[in-house]
Amino acid sequence: MLRWIDVIRFANQGNPKPDKVVEKSEAEWKAQLTPEQFYVTRQKGTERAFSSEMCSRFEPGQYACVCCDTLLFDSDEKFESGTGWPSFTQPAKENAIAYHIDNAYGMKRVETVCNTCGAHLGHVFPDGPAPSGLRYCMNAVALQKVEATTTLEKATFGGGCFWCTEAIFQDLEGVTSVVSGYSDGQLPNPTYKEVCSGRTGHAEVVQITFDPEKISYADLLRIHLTTHDPTTLNRQGADVGTQYRSTILTHNDMQRAEALKIIEEIQPNLEEKIVTDVKPFEVFYPAEAYHQNYYRNNPGQGYCAAVISPKLAKFRKLYQSRLKKASVAE
Ligand SMILES: [Zn+2]
Repeated sequence: MLRWIDVIRFANQGNPKPDKVVEKSEAEWKAQLTPEQFYVTRQKGTERAFSSEMCSRFEPGQYACVCCDTLLFDSDEKFESGTGWPSFTQPAKENAIAYHIDNAYGMKRVETVCNTCGAHLGHVFPDGPAPSGLRYCMNAVALQKVEATTTLEKATFGGGCFWCTEAIFQDLEGVTSVVSGYSDGQLPNPTYKEVCSGRTGHAEVVQITFDPEKISYADLLRIHLTTHDPTTLNRQGADVGTQYRSTILTHNDMQRAEALKIIEEIQPNLEEKIVTDVKPFEVFYPAEAYHQNYYRNNPGQGYCAAVISPKLAKFRKLYQSRLKKASVAE
């Protein structure tokens, strides 16, 4: 947390290094900004007090530089200062803002600018609330509100019959959707019958959409590798064929690195070697509508009752704390 002593040190001895630098000509800024934004951010202007309703709004979210989109403040650090300018006690990151001693108008003040693009934002004063004691007094026109959003991610796994894998992942808190389908084969838009022939090269997979703030990719991998048998090649129990292969189709390099790491983590718990494919994801074909939500819609069907129900019961016991509330009650 920055305090006044840090602000003075930055202003006198040099500012923290920004993550990146954005430089544009005056003409480029003029073309991009409204006249008021240009006047405040590029010409060190000050908006009229109480001219923006941003002062009295405290909804969750973040505030970014109106010039370069760099995140500057979080709504958690916003407070009602009564000054008529939006006020914060702390920047979003310690290197988000740069500080300069400002002797204009016969006052000694500390000017704050966006550390990425140099936009004038306002001033900072040592009369803010505890614990930082700072009051960042900002021009509302220099800021843009960024709504609180989470970016959902995708994971694509194959672990035998997708009726099974879908039922398992649907249960997890943080998983927003699971679609059964086919991937990693040659024939575009294959049918279930074609995939079952074993000649299209596809694996039966589920494509999972998840909120990484609620469940991590690493935990999805752990659950995937412990709820099917990753040591049997092209086979899960009585289901035999390449379409039932154990696979992790990764959507980026980070997922790939994570998959290799978690396989190494799980391996010592297993007697046989893990044969799970780890390959870059290319294309996904959703399966026919009747395969979606198969277990939920057909719990009494022979395979569901004999194979999926016991597997699901075991999974729910093992991962009880990770289930959606509705699943625990079932
Ligand atoms: Zn900026």
